[in-house]
Amino acid sequence: MNQATQATLPLVIDDPRQIRATVERQRKSGKKIGLVPTMGALHEGHLSLVRASTAECDCTVVSVFVNPAQFGPQEDLRKYPRTWEADLLALEECGVDLVFAPRNEAIYPPGFSTYVEPPRVAKRWEGACRPGHFRGVATVVLKLFQLVPAHAAYFGQKDYQQSLVVRRMVADLNLPIDVQVLPIVREADGLALSSRNQYLGDEERRQATALSSSLDIARQLVEQGTRDARSIEGRMRQVLDEAGISQIDYIAVADPETLEPVERITSRAVVLLAARVGETRLIDNQLIG
Ligand code: AMP
Repeated sequence: MNQATQATLPLVIDDPRQIRATVERQRKSGKKIGLVPTMGALHEGHLSLVRASTAECDCTVVSVFVNPAQFGPQEDLRKYPRTWEADLLALEECGVDLVFAPRNEAIYPPGFSTYVEPPRVAKRWEGACRPGHFRGVATVVLKLFQLVPAHAAYFGQKDYQQSLVVRRMVADLNLPIDVQVLPIVREADGLALSSRNQYLGDEERRQATALSSSLDIARQLVEQGTRDARSIEGRMRQVLDEAGISQIDYIAVADPETLEPVERITSRAVVLLAARVGETRLIDNQLIG
């Protein structure tokens, strides 16, 4: 590695006390701090959040932590992709200042037993399919907000329900942080970027484009005047079915704030979808109106 590269590498910190002290020092010197929480295996979706933070803040902290508390016992925690070297290079290129990459024991030391009860908006959809998931998400996000006292935190619309859970928690618990939610970054054929896309085989990768196509069709139907949520869901199911995707966890037309299902689209709505392509569970969504 040459000197120039070394000079711009982000400082990697794994110790919770050290990250807090470092960020507090930066804050005291008048810098605006941005935080981008991730589980690593970074792609352009993550990097879009990082770039928003580096554009708006003087100091960007990216956390890389595969949070065991948000995985169910049957889920892919152990095989979740870990691409540490490539992640660090990508963060260096984006001009990230600090990377917080704690070990599990630093976040959940022996005796840890306090969890956040997630808000009502966590109940349906992902919350129903993945019991305990949002409890784990809310808990780790609150801990990250404590350890990295940032002015702003950046999340992706890709995890739409998660963004509402975080926003609600920040409002309900009076957390002094501004939550920004940025648009979904997609592949050229529409597939939403996800760390889990790398599990897909060639045929599955082709099938997976049906998720975003079905959302496009939902949007077109609404543009053409369809208001009935059941017909939209039915048409989406058909698109997935034709692509050979039969394991659908949910297709929902919902209120974009409460995520309660709607029967008729009167103003804005969000269409949410989760399905399994082969063994890989993918989610996607689209705001309408
Ligand atoms: P993860 O590493 O999956 O926990 O994601 C970290 C953050 O990146 C979350 O706020 C995600 O919503 C966001 N993210 C993941 N994929 C995308 C994408 N395709 N476009 C925009 N943001 C994304």
